Amino acid sequence: MRILFVSSEVFPFSKTGGLADVSGALPKSLVDLGSEILVITPWYRTLQATPPPLWIGDVEVPFDGDFESVGVGTLERDGVRYAFVGHPDYQREELYGYPDDVRRFARFTRSAPQIAARLGFKPDIVHVNDWHSAYLPLVLTHGWHLPKGFAGLPSILTIHNVQYQGSSGIEEVLYWLRLPGAFRHSYLNHFGAANALQAGLGFANRVTTVSPSYAQEITLPEYGYGLDGTLRHIAHKLFGILNGLDTEVWNPQKDPYLVSSYCCNHLEGKVVAKKHLCDKLQLDSDRPLLAVVSRLVEQKGIDLFLAASDELILKGWSLALLGSGDKKLEVAAEQLAAKYPGRMTTYLGYDEPLAHQVYAGADALAIPSRFEPCGLNQMIAMRYGTLPIARATGGLKDTITHEQTGFLFDKASSKDFLETASYAKSLYGTPEWDRLVEHAMRQDFSWQVSAAAYHKLYSATIFPLP
Ligand code: ADP
Repeated sequence: MRILFVSSEVFPFSKTGGLADVSGALPKSLVDLGSEILVITPWYRTLQATPPPLWIGDVEVPFDGDFESVGVGTLERDGVRYAFVGHPDYQREELYGYPDDVRRFARFTRSAPQIAARLGFKPDIVHVNDWHSAYLPLVLTHGWHLPKGFAGLPSILTIHNVQYQGSSGIEEVLYWLRLPGAFRHSYLNHFGAANALQAGLGFANRVTTVSPSYAQEITLPEYGYGLDGTLRHIAHKLFGILNGLDTEVWNPQKDPYLVSSYCCNHLEGKVVAKKHLCDKLQLDSDRPLLAVVSRLVEQKGIDLFLAASDELILKGWSLALLGSGDKKLEVAAEQLAAKYPGRMTTYLGYDEPLAHQVYAGADALAIPSRFEPCGLNQMIAMRYGTLPIARATGGLKDTITHEQTGFLFDKASSKDFLETASYAKSLYGTPEWDRLVEHAMRQDFSWQVSAAAYHKLYSATIFPLP
């Protein structure tokens, strides 16, 4: 099977969150199942690739009512072919966060068929991810100026987070993507605005999201961010497939960022990792360490964590927070750390090596998310013998077993989080804690099962039952 996989971020080349992890790991696992994959992603200024992709020239892309050139670079790794889309639009400081983001990614989306054709790649199916590439199913169904063999290709959209939808004006989108005016009144139109994610929901042959619980939750108004009605309407083609973890990248037995390796039968290395982390963050290593590694946004319940911090420290936890995002949360986290030297450290920024060291060195990981499509955090933590203390929502609920592999609480409130963290603290240092750590570390979060589920869904999409 030949799969064209389109994603706005792909680990290790670019990353702001879990989407990159999935886009890095799933294609590799699909290759192991015998598929041929071309991954298309932007060539960002900050691209992490040594040596850099091989520049193969320009392709002409139908865009902005005309045709315009984008550059193409390629490389191959672990049996996966990657094509990077080069354009000044992606040569900015950050991956996202600009007023013209929808236009930037419309161009990216529109270039995918032309690039695949240029590379001689004829897909059986196209897999797009989140709003950034969600216009592609619509373009494939009805777009003009597609290379031969691309019109009508079956497609799958995976929603990694329904909160981000890619809204803009309808007329602009029709013009950018070179679509017929009739689409003003299609799934593209969400209450008078163009909505990339909704267009994907409507035009993709199948829609998946990254955990079974989240697949149900997003059909409810509390979780659907205005798309719950559309999601209920397309529920017959909506599936939840749990993400896996790249167990090569996340492996305490051979993690290059750790000073000592360890496994569930030999945890001495974890003790060393904690000492190393605490020295680095100037924390007292005798106390249990509760950490956060996260984007600092409302979704992640960081405010709930901060509201509970005084009590957590009083109850005996040390706290370490690694993340960046919302300025208000960043300031509040820094102020708390200044109040508790030796007890709490805040590290603002994105730091991959430090994240590995925190997962290994902490005793528990706080994940008080308001919603969590899947979450990789908790899976990484469990694999590193660090017990998640998480809200029972979405993928957190589907991957953590309360009092077996971590701790779950129901309500998104600092009180409930604090109560559960206090209960966890009461077990720390007992044989029960050690039992939970061992059990957590023995969980299998590898991609094999999920990749097989995607493979099955691709087949069912390409060859639907009559
Ligand atoms: P989301 O995709 O919603 O941000 P996930 O839990 O699915 O959340 O994935 C988050 C990924 O980003 C994990 O691999 C996590 O380790 C990483 N991450 C988040 N914040 C940071 C940070 N400040 N520094 C390094 N890695 C981070």
